[in-house]
Amino acid sequence: MKSSKRLGVGFVGSGFNARFHMLSWTGVRDADVVGVWSPTSEHARSAAAYARSLDVGPCKAYRSITDMIRDPAIDALWICAPNQTRLENLEEIADAITRGRGELRGIACEKPLARNVKEALRMVELARQAGLQVENGIVVDEFCATPAPDVFAAGDVASFPHPALAARIRVEHEDNANTMGRAAGRTMAGDRAPYQHLPFFYSDLFDLGYEAVGELDPRLNTFADWVEPFRQGVVYYLKDGRVRGVLLWNTWGQVDAARALIMDPGPFTANALRGRIR
Ligand SMILES: Cc1cc2nc3c(=O)[nH]c(=O)nc-3n(C[C@H](O)[C@H](O)[C@H](O)COP(=O)(O)OP(=O)(O)OC[C@H]3O[C@@H](n4cnc5c(N)ncnc54)[C@H](O)[C@@H]3O)c2cc1C
Repeated sequence: MKSSKRLGVGFVGSGFNARFHMLSWTGVRDADVVGVWSPTSEHARSAAAYARSLDVGPCKAYRSITDMIRDPAIDALWICAPNQTRLENLEEIADAITRGRGELRGIACEKPLARNVKEALRMVELARQAGLQVENGIVVDEFCATPAPDVFAAGDVASFPHPALAARIRVEHEDNANTMGRAAGRTMAGDRAPYQHLPFFYSDLFDLGYEAVGELDPRLNTFADWVEPFRQGVVYYLKDGRVRGVLLWNTWGQVDAARALIMDPGPFTANALRGRIR
């Protein structure tokens, strides 16, 4: 993989999305907008001129995506083309890299990744084939730090290692956003401490509500311990004798008990869990 201090970025697409990112580039450190490609060359030239007018990099128009990959000045691509062309854009990228036309450090793709799940899975497969690391979110260590110096991530976007689950997790909920944001801020300010909080999430649906902790993956074994079927109880998510997640269904004030259970190496059986949290 290439490495250079400043990141040279090429845009695939020259419309609203690309221009929006170029405009916001004035607030981005250590990266330059170097290229843009569009199937309509005059659009590419116009977007490149726009980037230069913003002084966000020595941007020029390229004749193809492969030409951008060939240019050592371009380290990463940002796919901003229309949704229906994203798969063919990535096919060209993967083809160029696997044929040794050039290298990339990364690709960003404007949302949505694709038009449907089948296409999205193909996008992921193509990126992996091209030797790119594909992760669920921004990868950080236990201090919320990304591999880039002085860059931190927290909240919805961050994929972080959790010691109790012995896995990397990404949590799109409020408690994680609040606590991880604080943890990242503390570390950034010099009070370095690992983020080990097991976040909970919640929702309310009329007279039903829940709080939940850990991994609530329906592919895990589940044990439902109802006080009143489907109205009040606790659902445990188990794997290899360990509790990996706890759903507290209309069961309140037990988040810490659920956390303690997930931290406990067990082993646990369904019978041993019956009545454990009420
Ligand atoms: C409809 C809805 C209902 C929800 N209900 C619940 C719930 O019941 N329980 C629960 O636990 N959680 C719930 N959530 C999730 C919770 O709101 C989120 O997990 C939380 O807000 C995430 O916080 P965050 O700071 O990580 O991200 P965000 O709140 O998304 O903040 C990210 C910020 O970054 C800004 N930004 C993005 N890109 C850039 C850029 N390039 N430069 C500068 N700024 C940028 C965005 O404008 C935004 O202000 C809900 C979310 C939604 C949308």
